[in-house]
Amino acid sequence: MRIDILTLFPEMFRGPFDASIVARAREQGLFQIELHNFRDWTTDKHHHVDDDPYGGGAGMVMKPEPLFAAVEAVQDQAEPPGRVIMLTPQGRLLNQGIVEELAGQPRLLLVCGRYEGFDERIREHLADDEISIGDYVLSGGEPAAIVLVEALVRRIPGALGNEESLDEESHTQGLLEYPHYTRPAEFRGWSVPDILLSGDHPEIEKWRRRQSLLRTARRRPDLLSRALQNGAVSDEDRRWLEEELETNLSDLM
Ligand code: SAM
Repeated sequence: MRIDILTLFPEMFRGPFDASIVARAREQGLFQIELHNFRDWTTDKHHHVDDDPYGGGAGMVMKPEPLFAAVEAVQDQAEPPGRVIMLTPQGRLLNQGIVEELAGQPRLLLVCGRYEGFDERIREHLADDEISIGDYVLSGGEPAAIVLVEALVRRIPGALGNEESLDEESHTQGLLEYPHYTRPAEFRGWSVPDILLSGDHPEIEKWRRRQSLLRTARRRPDLLSRALQNGAVSDEDRRWLEEELETNLSDLM
């Protein structure tokens, strides 16, 4: 997979992309990241990438000419041209399903905004997709691009040491993951649940599954509701959960 990032601040990516799983995956050639600065495609003397908004108002707007020129030139650098994704607070709210969908693409171009955002013609005629990382406003799309790359790289075969951990992670199966513990078995009087020390792996699996359901029900009833509707929760699990919560879950379905 190749990811091209178009930004006014390529230096913001150096720390995050030069460490840990992303850095290792790049070194192993599992995926490629290329950084590009829109300013390199400006044609005026002062290299302007923004201008005043028509109709007045506060802030500056990212101009269409350098953005179109940059995206089109970068697309021409390799095959296939790739899907152009604008990072904006108005886009599709990022979730694991969208990560899976994008991880299947051979090439993505991530376009990071600044100021008041993009001239609307960029949104309408250049972008294939818009992604938001949450219902809040950042000063720029760079942190959002970093979040998306972090999530994508985990889905690239070989990028993680232990591939098994992927299947049980929060959101992969529509539920939150069960709690984890490590040594010592007792810390400041707080003990690890006995079942995890028992060596009884079928019972440990069952405990984990139930903790996962319970945790999802308590913290994210919206996710549990979806899991109940799409058949990800067995009748047995559902009965157990109803007893545990002393409630009927049909309201969530
Ligand atoms: N005026 C814009 C609006 O209200 O929709 C917000 C502009 S914001 C200050 C500047 C840039 O930060 C945006 O163009 C976008 O690239 C990025 N950004 C801000 N919040 C974001 C979010 N939640 N997800 C993704 N990108 C975001």
